[in-house]
Amino acid sequence: MAGKIIHPEEHEGVIVDWSNHPLYRNVLDILEGAAREINLDRNCHSRLMKPRRALYVSIPVRMDDGSIQAFDGFRVHHNTTLGPGKGGIRFHPEVNLAEVAALAMLMTLKNSLVRLPLGGAKGGVACDPDKMSRREKQSLTRRYTSEIHMFIGPDKDIPAPDVGTDAQNMAWLMDTYSSHIGYAVPGVVTGKPIEIGGSLGRVDATGRGVVYCVIEAAKRLGMELGENTSVAIQGFGNVGFYSAKIIASIGCKVVAVSDVSGGVYNPKGLDIEELRQWIQTNKVLKGFPNAEFVTNEQLLELPCDVLIPAALSNQITEENADRIKCKILAEGANGPTTRVASKILHEKGVFIIPDILANAGGVIVSYFEWVQGLQNFFWSEKDVNNKLWEIITSAFNRVYECSTQRNIGMRRAAFVVSLDHLSRAMLLRGFYP
Ligand code: GLU
Repeated sequence: MAGKIIHPEEHEGVIVDWSNHPLYRNVLDILEGAAREINLDRNCHSRLMKPRRALYVSIPVRMDDGSIQAFDGFRVHHNTTLGPGKGGIRFHPEVNLAEVAALAMLMTLKNSLVRLPLGGAKGGVACDPDKMSRREKQSLTRRYTSEIHMFIGPDKDIPAPDVGTDAQNMAWLMDTYSSHIGYAVPGVVTGKPIEIGGSLGRVDATGRGVVYCVIEAAKRLGMELGENTSVAIQGFGNVGFYSAKIIASIGCKVVAVSDVSGGVYNPKGLDIEELRQWIQTNKVLKGFPNAEFVTNEQLLELPCDVLIPAALSNQITEENADRIKCKILAEGANGPTTRVASKILHEKGVFIIPDILANAGGVIVSYFEWVQGLQNFFWSEKDVNNKLWEIITSAFNRVYECSTQRNIGMRRAAFVVSLDHLSRAMLLRGFYP
């Protein structure tokens, strides 16, 4: 049997049927398309189809009512060829091992695409942070950190925020990890508050990267961005909010935004600051005055120039792809569009900026934060933003050139560029028997 590669599908005794999960399946399909395009080494392909290692933890938390609830948590290292694992931690009710593994795979490809010296990882806990008190969330974050502390570290795997987590969770993670080690270890996590070693420009980095990519896409399309450019954004968390704020700051008109409660639409444009204030007092967008209520599904189908899905995966599918009307689709979320939907959009002439490129701003500035922390030398916000611009626009160029030279869509091109770089590194490092 020496040398025979066993693909997950052919292996009878699999512990997890990865390919049963829609996002995992989707990423495998895109991987396969790109692999075929560049005739990727079969061994590299096979190794990338499964995560390198995955840790499951049960996290007991004393709830405010006195009961103890055990939450399911995960941390997955997909690939560490280019450097330590890197990727966020998601707190969401739908988190499961296959989803976290698929997101970790996307991190490997994202980090390779933008040429960071980092591998791909992801973590998650199945919980609903919106229904938990601050004390419960702190307990959950600390116990999760404690359970995975041997798996993470500044040279091993560096977590960061993702859906349902923020700078405060990262501060608790850093404190818990540091308590285990015995001294402050800021390099174990990124997306921290500035006071404890965070980077200027990290909080808005993902949204900023999305907008930098939209600017590049508009240039290629000969489209002028200004008051006549309408933008619809699904999701009003960190990515959605800062995408809205930054795209409005360059003069575009944000016509719709949404959150879990649904969306608000005003073709004349929405005031982002008013929306932020409304959320601060009312928690959700629902009820915001001077705007029409739309559902999250309707928002995607609104007439607009730029559509930014910045919520969860699998939002644009073969069901609704035909009704999407934007010119540019900038994927702020991870995996918001299925492979079949992507094909439909591509054929309709929609310019797609795929997730691993569009939302890479977050991990790029996470990398800056990690580097600044290791050197104890901190940069100005202007330096951070300029370096972000350099990295993300050169990645955009590489993808765009690949897409025109090979006559393929931007998504496949992004995977091709990323895989080409990663597979060279994998082949150079070789295989340890
Ligand atoms: N969670 C973000 C992502 O999906 C950021 C990860 C990081 O900064 O490590 O890219």
